[in-house]
Amino acid sequence: QIQRALRSLCIPLERLHIMKGHMMQDMCKGLSRQTHTQAKVRMLPTYICSTPNGTEKGNFLVVELCQNQVRILLVTLYGDGNMSPQMMYKIFDMPEGIMKGEGEALFDFIAQCVSQFLAETTSPDTSSSEERLPLGFVFPFSCKQTQLDKAELLSWSKGFSCSGVVGKDVVQMLQSAINKQELSHVDVVALMNDTVGTLMTCSTEGRPCEIAVVADKGSNCCFMAEAYLVETAEETSGRMCVNTEWGCFGDDGTLNDIFTPYDESVDEESCNPGEKRFEKLVGTLYLGEIVRHALIALTAEKALFTGTDIAVLKQKGVFTIQHVLDIINNEDGTSDVKRVLEVLGLQPSERDCGRVQQICRAVVGRAATLHAVGLAAILSYMCQTRDLETLMVNVGVEGELYTGYSRFEEILQSVSRLLSPECMATLLPSRDGSGRGAAMVTAVALRLAAQRRVVNEVLGPLRLTHADLEKVQALMRQEMEKGLGKHTNATASVRMLPTYVTHTPDGTERGDFLALDLGGTNFRVLVVRVTEEGISMASEIYVIPVPIMQGTGERLFDHIIDCIMDFQTKQNMMTQTLPLGFTFSFPCQQMGLDKALLLTWTKGFTASGCVGQDVVQLLRDAARRKQHSGLQVVALLNDTVGTMMSCGYDDPKCEIGLIVGTGTNACYMEEMRNVGTVEGDEGRMCINMEWGAFGDNGCLDHLFTHFDRVVDETTINPGKQRFEKLISGMYLGEIVRQILLVMTEKQLLFQGKPSSKLQTRNIFQTKFLSTIEVNGLALRQIRGILNELDLDASFEDCVLLREVCQAVSLRAAQLCAAGLAAVVEKMRENRGLDRLSVSVGVDGTLYKLHPCFSQNLQKTLKDLAPNCDVSFHLSEDGSGKGAALVAAVASRAA
Ligand code: ADP
Ligand code: MG
Repeated sequence: QIQRALRSLCIPLERLHIMKGHMMQDMCKGLSRQTHTQAKVRMLPTYICSTPNGTEKGNFLVVELCQNQVRILLVTLYGDGNMSPQMMYKIFDMPEGIMKGEGEALFDFIAQCVSQFLAETTSPDTSSSEERLPLGFVFPFSCKQTQLDKAELLSWSKGFSCSGVVGKDVVQMLQSAINKQELSHVDVVALMNDTVGTLMTCSTEGRPCEIAVVADKGSNCCFMAEAYLVETAEETSGRMCVNTEWGCFGDDGTLNDIFTPYDESVDEESCNPGEKRFEKLVGTLYLGEIVRHALIALTAEKALFTGTDIAVLKQKGVFTIQHVLDIINNEDGTSDVKRVLEVLGLQPSERDCGRVQQICRAVVGRAATLHAVGLAAILSYMCQTRDLETLMVNVGVEGELYTGYSRFEEILQSVSRLLSPECMATLLPSRDGSGRGAAMVTAVALRLAAQRRVVNEVLGPLRLTHADLEKVQALMRQEMEKGLGKHTNATASVRMLPTYVTHTPDGTERGDFLALDLGGTNFRVLVVRVTEEGISMASEIYVIPVPIMQGTGERLFDHIIDCIMDFQTKQNMMTQTLPLGFTFSFPCQQMGLDKALLLTWTKGFTASGCVGQDVVQLLRDAARRKQHSGLQVVALLNDTVGTMMSCGYDDPKCEIGLIVGTGTNACYMEEMRNVGTVEGDEGRMCINMEWGAFGDNGCLDHLFTHFDRVVDETTINPGKQRFEKLISGMYLGEIVRQILLVMTEKQLLFQGKPSSKLQTRNIFQTKFLSTIEVNGLALRQIRGILNELDLDASFEDCVLLREVCQAVSLRAAQLCAAGLAAVVEKMRENRGLDRLSVSVGVDGTLYKLHPCFSQNLQKTLKDLAPNCDVSFHLSEDGSGKGAALVAAVASRAA
C-alpha cells in the first residue's frame, strides 16, 4: 500500500514532457488577443519592459501591502551595478477593520504610514528639498494593468475586501491619499506584483535575470517575453515582463490524471475547490495538507499507525510545511521524525517514522519536480520565440520551499534540464525580492522615461506630420508647374524633362531589338524579343571600370561599343542589324526620341566632353570609330520611362514610372498642352521629372535635419539631389549611421562607446535597414550586423537601433508618397475627373526588398490623395523591356 501511494505521487518522465507541452500551449493562449479571456494561465502584462543595468541610482520609496501589515522602505541605489543598495524600512500593523472597511480609509492609512516613515527617517532639510521622491507600490492582488502606473483592481483576495476599490485605478487612489498628506514631492511611478521584484533583484552585472520563480505559500513565475507576443498589451517592440499566474494551470482539467485521492481531498476542503489546481500541488500552503490526507488514507488501509489514535490528524492545518520540512531534511535516521510526530500527538513506531518520511519526500519532491516542469515550459518558450538554438538565462528563485527544502534547487535544475536540454538556466537566490525589486522597477522606469525623452528629442525632427507631408506635396506641385512652364523651367528644381514618348504600349508591339542599360548599378546589353507569346530576352552584364567612368567620353563610348560587339558575337548575331533602345539614366534635355543632350552626370560618372552633347550621337560616333556599321540607335530613354513602359505592356492603366533604388526618380504622362517646353498641344507626353533634385533651390530646407545636412556635406555633390538624399538607397544607411553616432554620444546606445568602424563613412548599408526592420525581432541578425561593426549590443540597443531605422525608412517612404500624391492629383485634375484610377510601375531594390517601404508609401499616398486609386506593379527588368518597347514604337513611326 505504501508503495502504491508512493508510485501515485511519482510522475513518469513522458508525462512530465506532455505537461510541459500543455503549459506552453496555455501560455500562448494567455498571450493571444483572441483566447486570453478563456486562458487558465493568465499571462498578465506588467508593463515592465527592461531589467536593471546597474546604472540606476537615487532614492526610492517602496510601499508594500502585506497581510495585516504595510511595509514602507527607503532604498538608495548607487549606480554601481546595484551591488550595495542601502535600505531602511518600517513595518506598520494595520488597525482592526481596515482590511474590510472603506477603500479610502485603507489608502489614507497607507499614506499616513508613508508620512510618518519619512518624518522619522529623513532629515528636515532633505524632506523640504525640491527633489522628487519616486514610489513603487507592491500590490499583490489581481489587477488589470494598462500602464506601469495604471492598474484597475479586478478582485480582492487574502482577506481584503475594502469597498469602493474594485474597478478603480489603485495607483490613482494611492497618489490622491499621498497628496492629502502634503507629500506632493512623492510620485507613485510604478505598481507591481511581488513576483516581479524577485526578477529585478537577481540581475547580475553582464547578464540580466529574465525569469523569476517564487515557490512559496502559493507559486508563481514571471519572465521577459517578446513584447509583440504579448497581444493583450499595446507595446510591440522590445520585451515585457509577463506575470504568468501559473497557479491556475490545470483548472481546465489537464492535470486531473496526476491528481491523487489525497490531492482531491485537499482541494475539496479548500475555500476554492476546482481552482488553482497547479498551486495546490506545489504551494507550501498545501503540502502539509497533502501529507496529512495521505497519512489518514494509509492509516485507514492499516499501513500506518496501526492500533494507535490518529484523531489529531483529522484537524485541517495541523500538519504544516514546517513539520514536513523538519521530517525530510534530516538525512540520518528517524529520531527527528519521531519527535515531530510525537509533538503532534501521534505514537509512531520505528517503521511508521520511515514510511511517513518517504511520503513527505514524495510530496515535496513532486512539488519541486512540477516547478521544474513550469520552468522548462518557460525556458523552451523563450528559446523558441527568441529564435535561438540555445538559451542561456538567469533565473531568480525565492520562497519558503526554495529556502526550506535542501534538494529543491537540485531538482529544479536537473529536471528542467532534462525537459529543455536546449536551455541553460543559472539559478540565483533573490534577497528581499519584493522590497528591493520594487525600488529597482521604479528606478528602471525612471531611467527609461528619461531615455525616452532624449530619444524623442533626437528622432523628433525626422517624424513628419500629415500637415508636413501636405506641404511637401504642395511644394512638389508648385515645382512641377515651374518645370513645365516655358519661362519658369530654368529656375525649377524639378526639371520636368520631355521624353518624346507619347504613348504607353498597346500590346501590339512586335520585333527583335537590342537594348542598352547604363546608369544603374550594372551596365547591361540585351536582346529583347517581343512576340505574340510575350517578351523574352537574353542579357549580359558588363563592368565599367572606374577609370573609364571618370576618364574621357570617347573612351567610355568606345568601351560601350566593345561590350555590344562582344555581346553580339556571343549571341551569334553579328550580321543582324536590329533597332536599338538605349536606357540612359541621367538627366537629359531631349530634342527627340533619338536626340538627347546630357545635362549633368550623376551617380559617380564624370566622363569628360559629354555634358551638353547628344548622347545618341556620341554612341554613333563611337560605332563609326570602331567600324561597327550594323548599329541602328532609334531611341534613348530614362529608366523611369522604361519601367513605366514595361509595366504598361501588361496594364494599360500604367502611366507612371517610379524608381527607388540607388537614387529616386519618377515619370508620368502629362498633357501636351501643359508642356510649355515642347511645341504642340495635342495628346500626351511622358515627362521625366528628375525629382531627385527637388529642393535644390532651398524649398525643402525646413525639412532637413542635422543628420541630413551632415550626409549631404560629405557627398560628391553637396547641395544637389536634396530630395533623393532623404529617400534613396545610397543615403538611408548613412543617415542612420549619423543618428547612431549622436545617440552613442548621448549615452543612449552601446554604453556610450562607438566603435571605430561605426565612425567610417558609408559603412552602414541600406540593406541593413531591411534586415533590422523585418517583422518580429530578428535579434540574431541584428546582433550579427552590429558585431560586424565591432559593436557589442545589448537587447535594448537592438530595439533602439530598430526604432532609428524605422524612423528613417518611414520618412523616406512618406516623402516619396508626397511626391507621388502631387503627380496623381495633377493627372486627375488634368483629366477633369472626380476619381482617377491609375497604376505605377516601380523598380529599385529599396522598394522591392525593404519590408515596410512599399506599405508605408502606399498608405501615405492614400491619405494624401484620397480621390485617386493607385495600384503598384513591380517592374521586371524594366530598363531592358522598356527600351525595346520604346524602340518598337520608334521604328514603327520611322
Ligand atoms: P539601381 O538603382 O542602381 O539600378 P538597385 O535598384 O538595385 O540599383 O538599387 C541599389 C540600391 O539598393 C543600393 O543603393 C542599396 O543601398 C539598396 N539595397 C540593396 N539591397 C537592399 C535591401 N536588401 N534593402 C534595401 N535596400 C537595398
Ligand atoms: Mg535600376
